[in-house]
Amino acid sequence: MVKCRGCGDEVSEKAYFCPRCGLRTEAGEEAGAKTPISTRPGWERDIETALSNATKLMEDAFEAAKKGLQRAADEIEVEVEKARDWDTKRSAPVYCPKCGSKNPSDSQYCTACGKEIPRDL
Ligand SMILES: [Zn+2]
Ligand SMILES: [Zn+2]
Repeated sequence: MVKCRGCGDEVSEKAYFCPRCGLRTEAGEEAGAKTPISTRPGWERDIETALSNATKLMEDAFEAAKKGLQRAADEIEVEVEKARDWDTKRSAPVYCPKCGSKNPSDSQYCTACGKEIPRDL
């Protein structure tokens, strides 16, 4: 006697199908016995469908999450890039439009000639 993989009932090892739930036994599998669609247990079909649906849904959800994370990471990178850019501009020395003297980055007036330095930041 072997145990049915479906319901756990004892089945003769010569049987191709479980007499209780109709599931094909290992002997039936080896012999290549085809499960008749009409007697194929519904739960088996349902579980297969549910499993494949669930797998698909999980894959989709995973893909979406991955894309979302990637997008967020990209956005953060852009922001960091912008901040770094702005920082560089802000700390760069400015040149007087009148005399060309180099002035500290936050100068509003040229330290050499007193000309107002236009700030574009
Ligand atoms: Zn069974
Ligand atoms: Zn100047």
